[in-house]
Amino acid sequence: MAKITRKPAPRKAAVPKKKAKAATAKPKPSAKKSAPAKKSLKAIKPWTPAEIHEVFSRFRKSNPEPKGELEHLNPFTLLVAVVLSAQATDAGVNKATRALFEIADTPQKMLDLGEERLREYIKTIGLYRTKARNVIALSAKVLSDFGGEVPRTRAEIESLPGAGRKTANVVLNMAFGEHTMAVDTHVFRVGNRTGLAPGKTPLDVELGLEKVIPAEFMLHAHHWLILHGRYTCLARKPRCEVCLINDLCRWPEKTV
Ligand code: SF4
Repeated sequence: MAKITRKPAPRKAAVPKKKAKAATAKPKPSAKKSAPAKKSLKAIKPWTPAEIHEVFSRFRKSNPEPKGELEHLNPFTLLVAVVLSAQATDAGVNKATRALFEIADTPQKMLDLGEERLREYIKTIGLYRTKARNVIALSAKVLSDFGGEVPRTRAEIESLPGAGRKTANVVLNMAFGEHTMAVDTHVFRVGNRTGLAPGKTPLDVELGLEKVIPAEFMLHAHHWLILHGRYTCLARKPRCEVCLINDLCRWPEKTV
């Protein structure tokens, strides 16, 4: 975009009032337009397939079998844990579910527990009232519509109360080994900062990552990126100096 320059206003006291008004009525360039443009990720050199392969090879070498941090005993408890984890930390969810899953690790047992008692177990988790309602409703639906088994398709999982696209991606990946990419706050940040999959929405980043990550890495890619965001590429102070991929990362503000 051409640089907008403003000529200094003539200091003519003699300009008639009407003309002066017309002159000042011209639209001024907005502050947004005249602000110096920040370096956009769009302008950054795209990753080559060899570089992307290198990044995930390094992640694999440093952690060959990455694990999610949400504790669970089976696909049903994983589903419940993911539903409970919306806007909550994994550690906070684990603290509540350890005791809960000891007595309710199937949809039937969860229904038998009932909403009121379930609330007591999860009351330390944000939005626990709504989440308790959803967990009871999804348990009922898993029993009535899916024979008591967590369904294996995205559409079916997303049809369960409290379960959205991210829940479906986590369950499909962790319980059923599908090559899905769940985008949480960490994956969203890492996808954007590194330039691997810039996007305005989690779905943009999800589809971008799925497009560029080689199939051989997809089973674990979601966990590598989450762990990278959680422990290295931190939101406020990324630890670029100890980052495995700092030579390849495209973030203009990286500190190495
Ligand atoms: S170099 Fe810094 S910004 Fe880039 S991925 Fe590593 S920690 Fe994040």
